[in-house]
Amino acid sequence: MIELVIASKNRGKVDEYRELLQLPVKIFSLADFPELPQIEETGTTFRENALIKARATAAATGRIALADDSGLEVDYLNGAPGVFSSRYAGLQQNDEANNRKLLKALHGVPFSERKARFRCVIAVVTPKGEEYWGEGTCEGMITSEPRGTMGFGYDPLFLIPSLGKTFAELGPEVKNRVSHRAQAIRAVRDVLAHVLEDGVESGCGSVS
Ligand code: IMP
Repeated sequence: MIELVIASKNRGKVDEYRELLQLPVKIFSLADFPELPQIEETGTTFRENALIKARATAAATGRIALADDSGLEVDYLNGAPGVFSSRYAGLQQNDEANNRKLLKALHGVPFSERKARFRCVIAVVTPKGEEYWGEGTCEGMITSEPRGTMGFGYDPLFLIPSLGKTFAELGPEVKNRVSHRAQAIRAVRDVLAHVLEDGVESGCGSVS
């Protein structure tokens, strides 16, 4: 079976990919390669960071690699936290601290000015050096307090106005249909299927 490495250690994210990709591939994550050094996300855009991670992972594992970079852009904050979404409140901080900082930055800002979007870029890089990428966005508004218990990151603050619920209230089934990541996956799925087929022909997969 062809092998694909998702360039992430985040279990929630890797599970989302398993669920969304629905391709006949054996999926690994970076947790399966503990010896690999940490990949620094030095890019200034989501696309640069996704490509940096996919290139490094394909080169180090000799397998087809998929990497994403995603984050939240808030219009009132001129696109922040953007590529710094996971470390908005500092490198040692967590989702809760990030959410607190975001609510503070938007304190007193009226609902109509709390527009935001999640953005996700997915890059696929083969061991031969072929590179592909796709992008997805999901528009929403930032609430004034956390709502819901599911999901991760900024989910409790990200409201989908047409559904009247935050990502943390909607749960994985609905989120996986509308999310930025779901849309980016749709954008790269065909190319990924093609790359994986090609992998069979060129013998770059392994048989298990
Ligand atoms: P990364 O793409 O793993 O670097 O994640 C970037 C950061 O963006 C995460 O740590 C979250 O803070 C935020 N983020 C990305 N996607 C989501 C999502 O679907 N829900 C909530 N937060 C997200």
